[in-house]
Amino acid sequence: MENDDIEHAARLILASQYVVGLTGAGVSVESSIRPFRGPDGLWTEYGEPPMDGYQHFLADPKTSWEQRIKREGYARELYETLMKAKPNPAHYALAGLEEMGILRSLITQNVDNLHRAAGNRKIAEIHGNFSKLRCIQCNSRYEPEEISLEILPPRCPRCNGIVKSDTVMFGEPIPVDVLEICQDEASKCDCMLLVGTSAFVYPAAGFPLQVKGKEGILIEVNLYETEITSSCNISFRGKAGEVLPRLVEGIKVKLQESGSSP
Ligand SMILES: [Zn+2]
Repeated sequence: MENDDIEHAARLILASQYVVGLTGAGVSVESSIRPFRGPDGLWTEYGEPPMDGYQHFLADPKTSWEQRIKREGYARELYETLMKAKPNPAHYALAGLEEMGILRSLITQNVDNLHRAAGNRKIAEIHGNFSKLRCIQCNSRYEPEEISLEILPPRCPRCNGIVKSDTVMFGEPIPVDVLEICQDEASKCDCMLLVGTSAFVYPAAGFPLQVKGKEGILIEVNLYETEITSSCNISFRGKAGEVLPRLVEGIKVKLQESGSSP
């Protein structure tokens, strides 16, 4: 990572009108959350969940809920890990950028709630949030303590629809309200920060392409080269928790030079 690149990235970000972040598993991994896939993946160890998990849920939501409450295998390990996980310097850097009025919003593929814990407020969670529940009929989100589990499956207090975990299952469509926010943000965005995501899985993969298509800026932070690297204006190879705090410092320096403090 060269200082010149940090300076260049800071300049591009400050010259942009609408900066949006897109984050993926790489950011979570730096908070010691195991990835699903790869050599150390949870699913590599416990086996992949069924690709039609949502259809199983719809066919028998009561049994799905009973299994969820028991939490066996990887579900237990994942839940315990997520409950303990804390934001890392990458999360705090992104929260700082939002507070400075530079980052307009964040689209994340992560379900771990850590962006919210770090202080970001405008977040679209494409794959949901493990700490919340959601009605599959009206998309209302609930804290777990708001929903009684005495009768399974639990029902939505607003519309009596079936309530499930907010985490998007295999085979489940991305909730339309979240997808609309993402599309709206991507259409306004002229500079996207791609952090810890290979931007390989749709719909997330479409957003940087959309920004690129209208000659917007793409800045990538990833340990590895990705499919999108060659399309990026700048690509940092490194840990998000090291690159992003330096980028925030670089932006602050530029703002001081130009006499406007954040
Ligand atoms: Zn409902």
